[in-house]
Amino acid sequence: MWDHVIKNGTLVKSTTTEKANIYVKDGKIAAITSEELPGEALETTDASGKYVLPGFIDTHVHSRDGRNGAHYKEDFYHSSMAGACGGITTIYEMPNCNPAVYNADMMHDLVEVITPKAFVDFGVWGLCLGPLNNSELAGMDKAGVVGFKFFWGYAIDSKTYQLVYNYHEGMENIIPPLDVGEVYKIFREVAKTGKMVAIHAEDFHLIKTLTEEVKESGETDYAAMLRSRPVLSELLVINTAIQLARELGTHLHILHLACGDGVDLIRQAQKEGVHVTGETCPHYLALTDQDAEALGSMIKGYPPVRTQYDQDKLWEGLRDGTLSLVCSDHAPHSPEEKLKGLWDAPAGMATSETMSMVMLDAVNKGKITINDVARLLSENPAKEFGTYPLKGSLEIGTDADFAVVDLDQKYVFDQNSMHSRTKLSPYNGRAFQGKVVETILRGRTIAKDGDIVGEPGGHFIRPL
Ligand SMILES: [Zn+2]
Repeated sequence: MWDHVIKNGTLVKSTTTEKANIYVKDGKIAAITSEELPGEALETTDASGKYVLPGFIDTHVHSRDGRNGAHYKEDFYHSSMAGACGGITTIYEMPNCNPAVYNADMMHDLVEVITPKAFVDFGVWGLCLGPLNNSELAGMDKAGVVGFKFFWGYAIDSKTYQLVYNYHEGMENIIPPLDVGEVYKIFREVAKTGKMVAIHAEDFHLIKTLTEEVKESGETDYAAMLRSRPVLSELLVINTAIQLARELGTHLHILHLACGDGVDLIRQAQKEGVHVTGETCPHYLALTDQDAEALGSMIKGYPPVRTQYDQDKLWEGLRDGTLSLVCSDHAPHSPEEKLKGLWDAPAGMATSETMSMVMLDAVNKGKITINDVARLLSENPAKEFGTYPLKGSLEIGTDADFAVVDLDQKYVFDQNSMHSRTKLSPYNGRAFQGKVVETILRGRTIAKDGDIVGEPGGHFIRPL
């Protein structure tokens, strides 16, 4: 008896496309063949005319969970449901939840809290707090975090270890943004683990200075916001981080790259042998400053969505392999918060469910190929984080995780169809072509035609 047979689909890897049937047993791929194998199946999927990709891995998700989580914004139940409906079978959860994941115990605690809510498999990031937890990084590595995240330029509450978003000098019990000496120590500690240090790359002091100038000018539109958080703020930090990674041998990963010129910096450093990788997100690939007037605070994220020039260079970086993956940076806020207006609304949007829509639409528009989608959403996210080939591959003996794609389907996206707690999207009312129609996790259908199937059954996974 097979768990699941996926028939007549076109199987897509980064370099190959072939028509075959997939047979699943005990949650693993048991056979890939053009033949019909004997035996009954618990589930059968007719994938005629459709593409079958390895289940997508979203490496960058803020589900706002944890025992003291901001559950009014989101929780893992909703974010993993949203992900599943968009073809995601594995989520790597960011560590700035509440409580934050700053040591091994806190990682185990988060795993315990979110496992019963998990519709998909998940890994967990560890947080770098500099002198507050450099001694905990080895323990988190052993516990199985997928990598280490450092919020460059953010202040930290010294009691709760939560990030402080509106830091100014003189605040009590707050540790100001770390200087380069402290960042050096973080990079040195992370290098010992062999895992990556992934950074939010925006320069705090430059942004502070320019924000004050912009506020004095009285201008409040999106162009003013872009002047307060310019491309230079990203480049300064990326440059410094590359030099630290070169010196210390750390695997550096640039999170949510928004500026096109950052691609050039990463490409050059890679040529010189620095272990640096980078990612970008759908909103930087599908939106520009020209959308800001219509979208208002819906477009707000940090770093900000920039210009067409930036978007074009990000696509180029994905095509030539400089950027290794695309992830959602799913970071929802409540409607009350998000509708406060451009300057007062918090940065971040609910983007997990819509990630594959943007990428499949890009295939139909000729920006990338369907093989690129398998490379950027499945294979590379597994390879960079040490979970390949168990995840992100279509190999015999690996987890039977699949996203079944109908590349022809045309539709207008309605944000009310979202599964996140907050149903707000910058893509509301937009026309798309290409959609995930079924998501399969370890052989079991977990989402079909945009709706969830069954109960949470996701597992914690760690790098192999
Ligand atoms: Zn993020």
